[in-house]
Amino acid sequence: MCGIVGFIGKGNAVAAVLDGLETLEYRGYDSAGTAFFSNGGIEVVKTKGRVADLREKLPEGISSELAIGHTRWATHGAPNDVNAHPHASADGSIVLVHNGIIDNFAELRLSLGDCKFKSETDSEVVAHLIASVYTGNLLAAVEAVLPRLDGTYALCVMSKDNPERMVCARKGSPLAIGVADEAIVVGSDAVPILPHTNKVVFLDDGQVAVCDKTGLTVRENGKVIENNITEIDWSAEAAQKGGYKHFMLKEIYEQPQGLTDLVHQRILLPKNGEPVLNMSGIDIDDEYFRGVSRIVLVAQGTAYHAGMVGRNLIERTAVIPSYAEYAADFHYRDPILDPSVLVIAITQSGETMDTLQAVRSAREKGCKVISVVNTVGSTIARESDGVFYMHCGPEIGVASTKAFTAMIASLYILSLHMAQVRGTIDEHELRRRSQDLLQVGPRVEAVLATANYIRQIAMRYVNAGNFLFLGRGTGWPLAMEGALKLKEVSYIHAEGYDAAEMKHGPIALIDENMPCLFIALKGRRYDKVISNIQEVKARGGKVIAIASHDDDAIHELADDVIYIRAESGIMNSIVCAVPLQLLAYYIADTRGCDVDKPKNLAKSVTVE
Ligand code: GLU
Repeated sequence: MCGIVGFIGKGNAVAAVLDGLETLEYRGYDSAGTAFFSNGGIEVVKTKGRVADLREKLPEGISSELAIGHTRWATHGAPNDVNAHPHASADGSIVLVHNGIIDNFAELRLSLGDCKFKSETDSEVVAHLIASVYTGNLLAAVEAVLPRLDGTYALCVMSKDNPERMVCARKGSPLAIGVADEAIVVGSDAVPILPHTNKVVFLDDGQVAVCDKTGLTVRENGKVIENNITEIDWSAEAAQKGGYKHFMLKEIYEQPQGLTDLVHQRILLPKNGEPVLNMSGIDIDDEYFRGVSRIVLVAQGTAYHAGMVGRNLIERTAVIPSYAEYAADFHYRDPILDPSVLVIAITQSGETMDTLQAVRSAREKGCKVISVVNTVGSTIARESDGVFYMHCGPEIGVASTKAFTAMIASLYILSLHMAQVRGTIDEHELRRRSQDLLQVGPRVEAVLATANYIRQIAMRYVNAGNFLFLGRGTGWPLAMEGALKLKEVSYIHAEGYDAAEMKHGPIALIDENMPCLFIALKGRRYDKVISNIQEVKARGGKVIAIASHDDDAIHELADDVIYIRAESGIMNSIVCAVPLQLLAYYIADTRGCDVDKPKNLAKSVTVE
């Protein structure tokens, strides 16, 4: 899940690589390193820790027109100086950075006989292999070695003989290449490229890129192919913190605008005439949707929780039997599928390896796949039959926030489309629901206006050792998401449960030291949730309730109440996520946690 960057061309390559690596630290931050040309040779500087530590280690005033860099999330070998990338061949002539896992590295190491390895990584073997076949042509050597590598890789390789060229290759791990006027910039995603250009080529699996000072050449099966350039409309500024203390907080605050933009782009409500849903990216016949027998929503982590909400929305709106499942299990369990099953893959980055595997196995079995993705041009977006882009801008904080609410809104719009095509809602109902969804921005804004109050509540729970999050219906996936947010950023142990499940086990944990957050919004299951709150109070537990704005009675029961205004099911699911995000953020920040880069985590999980 590491981040890799490369730069070749006019300008300070090392500075560009370091700045780029900082934007990629969400992908890993165990160690960082760079390699660049200096005094006629390649110099490698690397260190355990973050890019900031690497900056301290680098000599002043380096000027090089070619550099590569890496920020690591270790898979093979401890996070230390030696295992940090770049890795070099024994004679230092070939130097590379790698994102991915070389499955057959042990066997390849043996094939190299008594070659001396410095690190425990799987990646180092690739440098030695390239050096073993290198006879002066870097491209030829890389292309000769790639077929021997099992597993996944995004590689950026340089050779001592040639300060004018770096060679990149991709299989399974993402790689984007920016084509600026006087430079080629490589990155694991487009963000490090954006300060230089918005013209980006997303390499496909099996492709090799030759990055020269004079330009970019992409190759496939040993032949040059046309550069498939995508113009990215994110600005580099959008990927910066913009005055907020953390990306996570900035991204929480971006939700009203992001959701407003998303729904206004997708739902057109003419004064006279039927509402129009803009399904751009989903170029699939209506006839297909009429014949869908079942929908499986596949995802991991936060996206899985959005998928659980989505399943409820789809079943109720489009009346298609649906269920959500973890993509990794879906892939390995060999589910019973046929072409009438629609698979919806949900992933912010579009690169989540577990989800990608699920997409591939679904398509192999003849299913159509629609992906709900944020990152334009990502692998899953490209490999799907239809893609619904959330367009919520780069999400950098490792704990997902704005992508979660955008996923729910996207799944709802998709369910409205299927419902319209299948005739399960009429024009009047579609208009009513569309009007409701168009209010999402102001509703989320209203919660953010109470952030200070939520912060005060958070302060009372900063020292909690455990937390339970409970809800029913769509309150259940929200409870799971609330628990996930809290544990990932604050390291407080938290569980999210269906409140109905409480009496089957978790109730044994309730005492005065166990805060319980209930999602207790008015609706079909409200009375049942209130009974669960009573049960917790009867056992001395502390209760925080997220309640509907007009629920005066709940104050009598709960220790703390956060009111939200959200009258419909869809609005409940989206708006309710925001106080959960803020609680987790404030608790974590007060505990002094590194909110944007929680330990052991990386943002886009591009390994299995
Ligand atoms: N396998 C490599 C290492 O451990 C790269 C890790 C990754 O890309 O996640 O260093």
